[in-house]
Amino acid sequence: SLNGKTAIVTGSNSGIGLGIARELAKAGANVVLNSFTDRDEDHALAAELSEETGTSARYIKADMSKPDECRALIEQAGTCDILVNNAGIQYVAPIDKFPTEKWDAIIAINLSSAFHTTAAALPMMRKAGWGRVVNIASAHGLTASPYKSAYIAAKHGIVGLTKTTALETAEEPITANAICPGYVLTPLVEAQIPDQMKAHNMDRDTVVREVMLSRQPSKEFATVEQMGGTCVFLCSDSAAQITGTTISVDGGWTAL
Ligand code: NAD
Repeated sequence: SLNGKTAIVTGSNSGIGLGIARELAKAGANVVLNSFTDRDEDHALAAELSEETGTSARYIKADMSKPDECRALIEQAGTCDILVNNAGIQYVAPIDKFPTEKWDAIIAINLSSAFHTTAAALPMMRKAGWGRVVNIASAHGLTASPYKSAYIAAKHGIVGLTKTTALETAEEPITANAICPGYVLTPLVEAQIPDQMKAHNMDRDTVVREVMLSRQPSKEFATVEQMGGTCVFLCSDSAAQITGTTISVDGGWTAL
């Protein structure tokens, strides 16, 4: 059980981050939720999670595009046994039309933030004598598609950062790994289904199989609960010798 452990999950007021936070809390961890907003509903999410799991969840606002706020998130949490670098954004355009500010924002949020949070968290893990770094990469951390240059560069980059973190902590009771999801059914993805049905004039099942999951051989979305379960496994004793690697949860995408 993760009782008494503090888990910080970046970008966790929705989607995969929230799903991971929920599974970590169900396993007993005190979770720190995060995003760049500071709304009542963000703090309410933490209160709900506490009530649901009997753990103490908090919400801390920090913008993962800003190096000092990344480090401040960890400092403000006060302790960090489990660090999940999940915050991420996407932008799609060919390289010669890709706006520089979008490139910079994606590299900052999807890659550099993990460097800053890891740098701030490792001393705390060393002090506690135990630690887990789990980076949320993507099938696009291992393979590419056109028009997603910044995202794919950042996701390949975070796989490299994961390996380096693992080597620098190899002789300590700390591990660092990356989860590489395929297409995950989040509220954002769910919301795209009606538009895709209209655009392709297909029913729900067909548009999901033929269009959205064209690269996912299982023809099923992965779920946020599965991401959370994989993360809990990486935090378990069974995974103590798993470090510096990637776990694909992608319905066979990267086997193709
Ligand atoms: P999402 O949009 O639901 O979640 C992204 C989270 O990051 C949100 O909580 C958002 O508030 C937060 N965020 C965005 N910018 C931020 C910033 N500047 N500072 C702090 N937080 C910020 O999307 P998601 O699908 O849950 O994605 C989560 C992660 O999983 C991302 O890294 C994404 O690349 C990765 N991923 C998603 C899929 C998928 O199919 N959904 C597949 C592979 C990888």
